Amino acid sequence: MIIVCAGCDKPILDKFLLNVLDRTWHSDCVRCYDCHSNLTDKCFSREGKLFCRNDFFRRYGTKCGGCLQGISPSDLVRKARDKVFHLNCFTCMVCRKQLSTGEELYVLDDNKFICKEDYMTGKGKISIFNYYYFFF
Ligand SMILES: [Zn+2]
Ligand SMILES: [Zn+2]
Ligand SMILES: [Zn+2]
Ligand SMILES: [Zn+2]
Repeated sequence: MIIVCAGCDKPILDKFLLNVLDRTWHSDCVRCYDCHSNLTDKCFSREGKLFCRNDFFRRYGTKCGGCLQGISPSDLVRKARDKVFHLNCFTCMVCRKQLSTGEELYVLDDNKFICKEDYMTGKGKISIFNYYYFFF
């Protein structure tokens, strides 16, 4: 009986084969669909494709409210209202400073932030920053 690899559709002739998703694979074919790294210990799957942990969450995990990319478990995040943001996406749109917990900030369009300093400087000029709230 010839066993065919679920990854490359070629027969598996080597001694070592892997069983993933109830299918058989060359150990070399168990790779992340996105970054092609060899998935030796753990892998995630969706729609018949295999992913490493990071790429899986990047595709299917919670989306960042700023850049709309998926958030992987290794990313540092901030939560605001009901949204989650990458640390790097949670910055003042004027001075690019990273905003931290406890800081007073102003929100525009739900996903753009401006720090209090820039808000004060730009007040008068910028009247669209209507919303604000505090982080505790
Ligand atoms: Zn294969
Ligand atoms: Zn990957
Ligand atoms: Zn982001
Ligand atoms: Zn600023």
